[in-house]
Amino acid sequence: MSRKQWSAADIALGMDRPISRRDVLHGLALAGTSALAGPLLGLPAAAGAAEAAPPAAPGDDNYPPAWTGLRGSTTGTFESAHALRDGAPLPAFTDTGEEYDLVVVGAGLSGLAAAYFYRAQAPGARILLLDNHDDFGGHARRNEYHLDGKLHLLNGGTLLIDSPRPYSAVADGLLRQLGIDVPALIRRGELPVLFDEDGPRRAIFLDKETFGADKLVVGTKKKSWVHFLGDAPIGAQARADLVRIQEGKVDYYPGKDSAQKKLLLSQISYLDFLRDVAKVDPQVLAVYGAFTKGEWGVGIDAVSALDCWGIGAPGFQGLGLTEGSISRMGPTPAGYVDTGGSLRLHFPDGNATIARALVRSLVPAVAPAGNIDQLVTARFDYGQLDQAGAAARLRLRSTVVQARNIGDTAASTGAEIGYIREGHGYRVRARHCVLACYNMLIPYLCPELPAAQKAALHSLVKTPLVYTSVAIRNARAFKKLGIQGVYAPGSYHSSLLLNPVMHIGKYHGPRSVDEPTLVFMQRTPCKEGLPEKEQNRAGRAELLATPFETFERNIRDQLGRILGPGGFDPARDITAITVNRWPHGYAPEYNALYEPELPEAQQPHVVGRARLGRIAIANSDSGGAAYTDVAIDQGHRAVQELLAQAPA
Ligand SMILES: Cc1cc2nc3c(=O)[nH]c(=O)nc-3n(C[C@H](O)[C@H](O)[C@H](O)COP(=O)(O)OP(=O)(O)OC[C@H]3O[C@@H](n4cnc5c(N)ncnc54)[C@H](O)[C@@H]3O)c2cc1C
Repeated sequence: MSRKQWSAADIALGMDRPISRRDVLHGLALAGTSALAGPLLGLPAAAGAAEAAPPAAPGDDNYPPAWTGLRGSTTGTFESAHALRDGAPLPAFTDTGEEYDLVVVGAGLSGLAAAYFYRAQAPGARILLLDNHDDFGGHARRNEYHLDGKLHLLNGGTLLIDSPRPYSAVADGLLRQLGIDVPALIRRGELPVLFDEDGPRRAIFLDKETFGADKLVVGTKKKSWVHFLGDAPIGAQARADLVRIQEGKVDYYPGKDSAQKKLLLSQISYLDFLRDVAKVDPQVLAVYGAFTKGEWGVGIDAVSALDCWGIGAPGFQGLGLTEGSISRMGPTPAGYVDTGGSLRLHFPDGNATIARALVRSLVPAVAPAGNIDQLVTARFDYGQLDQAGAAARLRLRSTVVQARNIGDTAASTGAEIGYIREGHGYRVRARHCVLACYNMLIPYLCPELPAAQKAALHSLVKTPLVYTSVAIRNARAFKKLGIQGVYAPGSYHSSLLLNPVMHIGKYHGPRSVDEPTLVFMQRTPCKEGLPEKEQNRAGRAELLATPFETFERNIRDQLGRILGPGGFDPARDITAITVNRWPHGYAPEYNALYEPELPEAQQPHVVGRARLGRIAIANSDSGGAAYTDVAIDQGHRAVQELLAQAPA
């Protein structure tokens, strides 16, 4: 294989440096796997899909959390499902002869919770979980690094035990049963903030492509924006407008009461509000352009001004809006509550700790028993996940392409589930089946669903997202620049954050800025100007077509430009990169800009989740909100539906 010729600019960024640029094809390095490619819904051709590289560290061959390179939904996880969508015929399924009480499709938090609840009500039940990824947890994914011999963790997806509503008794109860006592963990104060001498820091990177010059603007939240903006490349009018939006108290709708104003704000986007109501300079729109990307995965043109008010966006201070949401708001109402969950507390690997706690409970052989502190550092034995004879089995790299009732739906005696693994079709049987996978796929798995239900499921378009983890030699540049996180509205990743230092059990974050550490970066691939779901689709297509090399070049360039003035050299200081790619990320939520207000029973996620004989539907999609408590609640509901109809 000829060696790649890098340009001088690439060499300056470190593109020629030896880091793992692995993508995996069902756990196999891509090179040489095309011979395995099966017909029909089997493996895809490997051509040009990614670069193969050895595992991250010796001994990590069967330990997906430690794999770096392109992760999340890797090549090999989605091709069978996409072929099914595109009308490819089903393969011949080999009957495994395996029979279970419950088969769960999708080992994300919802599917894992469903398995947990089923077993609680049917002790001794035999359970199989099937998931298309090479790791479990769905979005709740663990990124594990060993830097200079020390364990460092980051979330590859789901981070916080947060929710815009109090955790239900079911979801809160599950966490407690798993040994996760959120209030007690908050009291222990696991999440100190670095470099906090001066109050919380605010840092914005203005890039030359958008603002004419690269500039990192840093200040404390105590200081007025007049001082904060300093010598930023922002014109005089835009400066005045920024200060007005951040700190002014202008009533843009004089004479209207709070309810009337809320209704008006629910009918326009935040972009409309800033541009047409507050009439700000266009540069201001560029500053706020990525404000909504973390929460909704789309630009400010596709989220209502009212929903932005709900998460504390600036500009509404003078409107005199009363607290509380209205029905035209998405599930992110004003007064974001801390009950049950927490807006600040998270485990070092995010909610992957919840997934790991569930897996350890279901398959005790994967890790030693212990409390939640011990779980954080436990190394799982992935070889134990799918052992014949175990009460619960978790089979990875297995894409389900069919789920059908045995006999008539109304008088079904069970379900048959067909899946593809390493290019071959297999079939298992179960008394009950929970589809905890992406709901928009379900019409293809169950073609016998009623047309209205299929239409509802098809409409549940998910939001693509990228969470990137970057290992760096030290955090000196952050210290020198006086920053922990940066909002970068015009850049490839719209935010970055130095991994917060936390200590839990034997896990200890860096004690000095001289130690290696991790940086978290977030990108939301979307196409502004389109309706929300079209933005999602366009972003997904872009994401699936973007090679790791493009991510890497952008990451190196962005970190070099933001942190360079602090002494950071991307060629020297970056030691590993993990790009967690989620083409199907957040569950769809109600958006007043594009959707009619409907009674609950007519909402698409409710119509879509109707049970079909012995097959029930879970996943956060079926709860209409992208939160962990919803994923858990929906897993619980699906199990109750099945057991109410046919007890185990
Ligand atoms: C980047 C990111 C960050 C997030 N951060 C937060 C947060 O901080 N707090 C929060 O509460 N929520 C967060 N969320 C929302 C998150 O989606 C939920 O909290 C929760 O993790 C969803 O769990 P789930 O089981 O419903 O879905 P998923 O995690 O998507 O799990 C579904 C699983 O089913 C699998 N699957 C799909 N199709 C098939 C098939 N045909 N065969 C087999 N398996 C299949 C999927 O690959 C996946 O592994 C975040 C989401 C993303 C993407």
